[in-house]
Amino acid sequence: MERVSSLAGNGVFADDYRETPSWLDDVAPFTGGSAELPESTDVLVIGSGYTGLSAALQTARGGRKTVVIDSADMGHGCSTRNGGQISTSIKPTQEALAKMVGAEKARAVRQEGVNALKWIEEFIREEEIDCDFRRVGRFHAAHTPDHYEALVRTAEQGRREEGIESVVVPRSEQRRELGTDAYYGGVVYSRHASVHPAKYHRGMLNKVEAAGAVLVPHCEATGLIEEADCVRVVTAKGEIRARDVVVATNGYTTNLTPWLKRRIIPIGSYIIATEELAPDLVDELFPTDRIASDTCRVVYYYRASPDRKRIVFGGRVSADEVDPRISGPLLHRDMARIFPQLRDVRISRSWHGTVAYSFDELAHIGSRGRVHHALSYCGSGVSMASYLGMRTGQKILGSAEGKTGFDGMPFPTRPFYTGNPWFLPWIVSWYRWRDQQECRKALKTRG
Ligand SMILES: Cc1cc2nc3c(=O)[nH]c(=O)nc-3n(C[C@H](O)[C@H](O)[C@H](O)COP(=O)(O)OP(=O)(O)OC[C@H]3O[C@@H](n4cnc5c(N)ncnc54)[C@H](O)[C@@H]3O)c2cc1C
Repeated sequence: MERVSSLAGNGVFADDYRETPSWLDDVAPFTGGSAELPESTDVLVIGSGYTGLSAALQTARGGRKTVVIDSADMGHGCSTRNGGQISTSIKPTQEALAKMVGAEKARAVRQEGVNALKWIEEFIREEEIDCDFRRVGRFHAAHTPDHYEALVRTAEQGRREEGIESVVVPRSEQRRELGTDAYYGGVVYSRHASVHPAKYHRGMLNKVEAAGAVLVPHCEATGLIEEADCVRVVTAKGEIRARDVVVATNGYTTNLTPWLKRRIIPIGSYIIATEELAPDLVDELFPTDRIASDTCRVVYYYRASPDRKRIVFGGRVSADEVDPRISGPLLHRDMARIFPQLRDVRISRSWHGTVAYSFDELAHIGSRGRVHHALSYCGSGVSMASYLGMRTGQKILGSAEGKTGFDGMPFPTRPFYTGNPWFLPWIVSWYRWRDQQECRKALKTRG
């Protein structure tokens, strides 16, 4: 049996181990906000992640009285928990999407991924948000030779038909990108970027507060009652009347909005940060400072922290939802399989968050009466949530700029699905089994 780690049981946890995102170590606790909920407002935003804040920034700056509430701390959801990897965020290929909605609509939807990536860089620069944004590029690694061939074909097609910049990296040159021999080459998407998720969130929060919005943490919305001229929202801190409501709850969507809950598949995503590493080791593992991901069905994503002191490694390591104390060692095992250099390195942080998938693997933006939504980023929401939040705010302001390529797309559900993804453990187990089989087969043929 291959020796993956010498750190058994609790030995895998560093002395400073905690189950909070490592990103929160770099931002002071948020002490602003209001304990009181106003009785009325123009716009009520439910959820204080990137989607909600980005919508609020538009409406507050557009002169609408805006209130943002969250059931927990501001930014409690994925927006302070993610891996900080920024891509074009659209999962289906042009070919697959064209089969669903026709070639022209497919192009319009895919273009929004490019727009979101471009927009977030401009937004961070223009707003002067200090959040370690870097256009480092992504190394997308193939876990088998067949996947490498497929990656090369997709990259060529993307360059030819959509102008997506990419560079093919064969296995013989892989060490230039990543300090591992576990993969069979890959493709660098040079326009993809990295960010410090919590610094970015805090920067946005400060902007929203400065724009005059009222921020109310620990204020769960529990009821929506639509009336002729407003929506009455029942919350833990009393009732508020709003002309428009933005539901920005993504993976944390509850029965507050059963229509959305029926369309969202909540999935836990798990992540660890290592203890501090020697600079030479980080340079060996991430010589170009790119973000990285792989072609496994149950994908791994990882990077060096912005200060290049730790490795932040994420993925889905269990069929069921588990505690970070369980997922941490499992992620460590998989990290050490890719980077044997890390097998004796301990974990300082282990945490998770709940992302939202949709049945068509697309983000969705829309309105039902006075209630607007933007969500289901399928695990890639740093740029898309910010971008579609912004567009939602513009829609509420009645601005023509608020139009998106997603407008008018159906938001599918499945018969009898009410928001409990009972089928997930089976699917995850099946995907993981197939990934493992493929890796074993590839290893045998490597000789
Ligand atoms: C571990 C992990 C790694 C990830 N890595 C990446 C990555 O590298 N790149 C990438 O692009 N994306 C990544 N993502 C996904 C990305 O973080 C999300 O898509 C994005 O943050 C979604 O933002 P949001 O504002 O829509 O939702 P969230 O930030 O999740 O915010 C939703 C908020 O709604 C609140 N809420 C819910 N219901 C109510 C209610 N009834 N009343 C009041 N408040 C309510 C919640 O408390 C929560 O704060 C990752 C996610 C996780 C968990």
